Amino acid sequence: MSHVLHRSLTQSYPTAVGGDGVYLIDADGKHYLDACGGAAVSCLGHSDTDVIAAVKQQIASLAYAHSSFFTTEPMEALADLLTEQAPGKLDYVYFVSGGSEAVEAALKLARQYFVEKGEPERRHVIARRQSYHGNTLGALAAGGNAWRRQQFQPLLIEVSHVSPCYAYRDQRMDETPEAYGTRLVNELETEIQRLGPEQVMAFIAEPVVGATLGAVPAVPGYFKGIRELCDRYGILLICDEVMCGMGRTGAMFASEQEGIEPDLLCIAKGLGAGYQPIGATLVSKTIVDTIKNGSGFFQHGHTYIGHATACAAALAVQKTIAERGLLARVNTLGTSLQQALEERFQSHPHVGDIRGRGLFRGIELVLDKKTREPFDPALKLHAKVKAAAMNAGLMCYPMGGTLDGRRGDHILLAPPFIMEEQHVHELVDKLELALNTVF
Ligand code: PLP
Repeated sequence: MSHVLHRSLTQSYPTAVGGDGVYLIDADGKHYLDACGGAAVSCLGHSDTDVIAAVKQQIASLAYAHSSFFTTEPMEALADLLTEQAPGKLDYVYFVSGGSEAVEAALKLARQYFVEKGEPERRHVIARRQSYHGNTLGALAAGGNAWRRQQFQPLLIEVSHVSPCYAYRDQRMDETPEAYGTRLVNELETEIQRLGPEQVMAFIAEPVVGATLGAVPAVPGYFKGIRELCDRYGILLICDEVMCGMGRTGAMFASEQEGIEPDLLCIAKGLGAGYQPIGATLVSKTIVDTIKNGSGFFQHGHTYIGHATACAAALAVQKTIAERGLLARVNTLGTSLQQALEERFQSHPHVGDIRGRGLFRGIELVLDKKTREPFDPALKLHAKVKAAAMNAGLMCYPMGGTLDGRRGDHILLAPPFIMEEQHVHELVDKLELALNTVF
């Protein structure tokens, strides 16, 4: 009997004992092609010798020093590197241990900024339906995923939710993508007006939606419209790039691809690539200057912020990505993966849509291809696909449809940037095997 309180209390899990490049290996020696990086984490695979060496070296010299006593070399160097890469005036980095903490920090920074700026009435957050921003209470409140929120609702701060940008289901037949994007921006403006613009502190969104929609980029112009709207009403824009950031979509930050500069940018997952748990919130100079010139203290913190070994791991990961030119690979392999998925599954009777950007791809499963009617979520199709894929030696990240039937089950793919063309074919073959078992 396991004494671990696992995610599922009814399921048992194989024991992972090793990693070799793009594969994870269980205690029976079975190899699993990691086509989702766990949850878009392991962008360098599982045995990168440079990163492992950097972690060993850091632990041997200094594993950890509490951030209220010291700064450390790896933390400073990582902040330098990230702010060099980040768009515009995102000049400061607040280091945490994961994505939810990065979002919590962003929400608190937004609130403290307005308090110190003399606008304490700004307290409302607007997010989007069918979104996920983490599981801690603040981040969960921001998220618009009904299934995750349901039972915790009484504990969550009030957040308004507007429509996600989800062209496959919500763009009207008589609408261009641009017109659809404008309609959504107008919807956000209506919500801002309803709440009272002077009460709104931030809008939060994922530039390319991961877990809740399955690798869905916005239509062209949508994020530019959102940025303009936020500027017009003095509202902060938080981009949650916990999943889609750090090269996953073929640029270091997905917001760059949208041509926008957020005020706060949350990253995690690919930042440390799973070699250490680490996340971060990139913060604009304006926000930091306001707090610096006010109380001079960000009223927040965790024991492990800026953990030296975690920062050293992330630094090694990011240097490796740059030195090996992996972003270019993300783009070429991403195109190959999309083509291979389309060739194999486009005509599948239950594949409704194949989409994404870079090595971030999603397949939406539908009951009826023509009407796009989703499967009944009670069938738990996503769980069946996951089990069949694991049997076939493939890790993919399937997600159930929404309770209101507004989205079907989907499969999220986020393979390591180091994969080769042969792995694209292996992925598609194994996924076909899995789908043949389920349908
Ligand atoms: N934000 C997004 C977009 C995510 O996808 C996730 C996790 O999947 C989180 C936040 C929360 O990150 P973590 O699980 O590291 O707390």
